[in-house]
Amino acid sequence: MGTVLIDTYLCNGCATCVEICPAVFRLDEVSGKAQLLTPETEITDAVYQAAAYCPVKCIELREK
Ligand code: SF4
Repeated sequence: MGTVLIDTYLCNGCATCVEICPAVFRLDEVSGKAQLLTPETEITDAVYQAAAYCPVKCIELREK
């Protein structure tokens, strides 16, 4: 398990992370920014990919 953090100030709402890993990321309907379905999650390859492909690099992963 690990923790995923999103810097919503930097997030531009591109939804790349949601497309890559909808099990963990979704877009907030009000703010249009990424949010987590659950902050404590398995850091799967899809989560790594979502962080890697985020254009503004605002997804931080903390492995436990
Ligand atoms: S990929 Fe990055 S910038 Fe795009 S919605 Fe996700 S967190 Fe925001």
